[in-house]
Amino acid sequence: MLELKKISKSYQTGSFVQQALKDVSIEFRNNEFVAILGASGSGKTTLLNIIGGLDRYDSGDLIINNKSTKKFKSIDWDRYRNNCVGFIFQNYNLIPHISILDNVEMGMTLSGVSSKERSKRAKEALKKVGLLEHAHKKPNQLSGGQMQRVAIARALVNNPDIILADEPTGALDTKTSIQIMDLIQEIAKDKLVIMVTHNPELAHEYATRIIEFQDGKKLSDSNPIKKEEQDTSTLKIRKTAMSFATALKLSFNNIKTKKGRTLLTAFASSIGIIGIGLILSLSNGFKIEVDRFERDSLSQAPIIISTQAMNMDEETMEKISTNNHLEKYPTEEKVFVQDDVVQTMLHTNILSDEYLNYIKKMDSKNLAGISYQTTTGFTIINHSSDGYQLVAGSSYWTILPTNPNQNENGIVEDNYDILAGSIDESVPGLILQVDNKNQIYESTLKALGLSGKEVTFHDILNQELKVVFNDDYYIQYGEAFVPSQDLEKLYHSDHSVTLKVQAIIRGKEDKEMLTSGSGIAYTNSLTELVISKNKDSKIVRMQQEKDYNVLTNQPFDNSSMSTNTKDTILGYLGAEVAPSIIYLYPKDFDSKEEITSYLDQYNQGKEEKDTVQYTDMAAMISSLSGNIMDAITVVLVAFSSISLIVSSIMIAIITYISVLERIKEIGILRALGARKKDIKRVFNAETFIIGLCSGLLGILIAYLLTIPVNQIIENLSGLPNVAKLNIIHAIILIIINVILTMIGGAIPAKMASKKDPVEALRTE
Ligand code: ADP
Ligand code: MG
Repeated sequence: MLELKKISKSYQTGSFVQQALKDVSIEFRNNEFVAILGASGSGKTTLLNIIGGLDRYDSGDLIINNKSTKKFKSIDWDRYRNNCVGFIFQNYNLIPHISILDNVEMGMTLSGVSSKERSKRAKEALKKVGLLEHAHKKPNQLSGGQMQRVAIARALVNNPDIILADEPTGALDTKTSIQIMDLIQEIAKDKLVIMVTHNPELAHEYATRIIEFQDGKKLSDSNPIKKEEQDTSTLKIRKTAMSFATALKLSFNNIKTKKGRTLLTAFASSIGIIGIGLILSLSNGFKIEVDRFERDSLSQAPIIISTQAMNMDEETMEKISTNNHLEKYPTEEKVFVQDDVVQTMLHTNILSDEYLNYIKKMDSKNLAGISYQTTTGFTIINHSSDGYQLVAGSSYWTILPTNPNQNENGIVEDNYDILAGSIDESVPGLILQVDNKNQIYESTLKALGLSGKEVTFHDILNQELKVVFNDDYYIQYGEAFVPSQDLEKLYHSDHSVTLKVQAIIRGKEDKEMLTSGSGIAYTNSLTELVISKNKDSKIVRMQQEKDYNVLTNQPFDNSSMSTNTKDTILGYLGAEVAPSIIYLYPKDFDSKEEITSYLDQYNQGKEEKDTVQYTDMAAMISSLSGNIMDAITVVLVAFSSISLIVSSIMIAIITYISVLERIKEIGILRALGARKKDIKRVFNAETFIIGLCSGLLGILIAYLLTIPVNQIIENLSGLPNVAKLNIIHAIILIIINVILTMIGGAIPAKMASKKDPVEALRTE
């Protein structure tokens, strides 16, 4: 079953070559107790390591099952060690951080025996060596003799055909040595036991065959195999493989012995995670906060459709920069003409009847308010202690948006508190808006015909103004018209209509974004009244016929920004003209989406010049703030990622140190048949555990830090609970951390797997 044929082995240290074995040939019986005797340095350990497949021979051959092992691969040796050989060492070589039972089970664990079977067999083996009651102790809780018995149990448990013992009693006192020798002799009954010793008495007392060594050569053999002896037995070689769970258990137990260091490592390498976690939770929280804020306060900001629209979409922006393909700092002696930026961006919207009808057909359920800004002018006269005055400010007044859904809240009710009076859109009237300190400008007060530093709501609501109409106000003077000067007469004329402040309103506290400021608004019915009264007035009819300004007797100026065009003058005279701006107030965020998509639909399939462009300020602000926030987040995360990289380098160093510390364990595992792959797995498991710990720790700390961070933010800005750690982010961060740490530990783990098992066992 086992035969050495002219085995030679030499070690090279620097330029010095030490021949440890020279042409050694021995044939072993499958059941005998062989003692190898020899002085220190005679090559006994080397011989044993070669027989056990831990070390490789230089020349000659080791015959196993009548087959040469010259072509054996690393994996074949691993299987051979695991299945066929049990090692017993002078210094026991137990893995210190796992229990006696686990130590004994390890060989079976490597060959994939089920845990129940393992435990059963390990306990049997421990019982055989008389240590069953110590099964759950750690090796350092036992005496030397007990540890050697554990090693014997470990060597026996996989039921190997060969037991190799290298000076098993070398470290024990005489009495204990005898007990151990008795045990080994017991084993030798049905196995091949090869025991190295430098104690001739023990050898002669127990062994059935004694081989003497000197300077790497066989000196004598007391019982060599005779020609007629036939060996028919064979060694059974099965597969071995360590599961990741075993690797995890080994590394977990190892880590448990250095809790403090592992915790510190995990903490140090979790700093990157903490940073990224905090940044993400802050930006996540801010995004939610800003979204909410924008939904609340900006969703009702009107969509503006003006005759002159600023077009800032991507296409236009691209158009503006089309000349960008031109070379910078050209040497050509030419000047290149660029498109006028403002002209390119400016889009003239034609608010045709077709378009106005399209707007009117819009589903009013999405609208909280709508208003048409026209140039319709009206003439108002107030009466105060100073006498009668024309109200010049009417062109600065705003038109009150009408509520398209009578039985629901409109834009005004949604955003303003009505402090006094009530709004009746069907009655021509004024609405006074005060700011959040109930202030209005003096000019506003004067326009109402009032004065003083403080005015009561009552006085304002009781103030009467009069609207006068063209036929009373304008007096024809040849080809032109001039305004009448007798305001008192106009004020008291039967033709003029009384106008009152219907209500005093103030922006709601939480709607400051939309409602700050003060001023006067008027109901749409005032516009309608003026238009209906002025429609048939002489001056309007005349202006419609003439192609010059009847108020100044001057020709019109039709350039784009002119206020002296026929339409403008007709509007000024209170005739019906097309609106110049339409304000659409969406009910909420979702309504806005529907409104804009309805408006977009109108433009579909139309030529660019026939499209009507709208301006959505809220969307512009949102996308701007969103982009800025994303950019800041990316920069901060990138910075924190550096600490992640640093921590993976640190993990690489820590793993390297751990490899150095666990070299002995590597040797033991290899002696028990662990593959290189399995060793790699042990260290990958260690970095996996550290990566997982630091990831979890980082996330936990980041989460805990959000509490004081939120407190600070709340104190600074009044916003509660801004920082929110997203669970998905947390999981992704932990996974990334585990991957990075495992990458960091991969090189040292690979190094560990390449360690020579013989050298590994030699280290102390
Ligand atoms: P023994 O076990 O009989 O004391 P060894 O087999 O350990 O002897 O060693 C045989 C010879 O080989 C010794 O001279 C020893 O110094 C040398 N030797 C053993 N292992 C190595 C090694 N890894 N590197 C260099 N020399 C070695
Ligand atoms: Mg030795």
